[in-house]
Amino acid sequence: MSGALIPVDGGSSPARCLRCGALAAGPCARCREPVCGDCCVLTEGGARVWAICLACEDRGGRTLRRGWLTVIGWIAVPILGLALLVTLLGLLTAK
Ligand SMILES: [Zn+2]
Ligand SMILES: [Zn+2]
Repeated sequence: MSGALIPVDGGSSPARCLRCGALAAGPCARCREPVCGDCCVLTEGGARVWAICLACEDRGGRTLRRGWLTVIGWIAVPILGLALLVTLLGLLTAK
């Protein structure tokens, strides 16, 4: 008969949880792998709440703060190095 239901899994299959294979609720905020609600934890990463998978929680804990500190360190260290260089050059050329 016409108007039959089209199977949901025809074509692109929905994302499955990396750990248990259930229907994924969304991607992990760290590794971007799809995880379901049972296999992720909510973290406080600042203004908004993130969901990260349990594997990532094991690796880095519930907070993303350490990750942000690493990012800030990677940005701040070259800037501080440049500032030092500019200061040294200024001292050398000021005379
Ligand atoms: Zn799962
Ligand atoms: Zn993850």
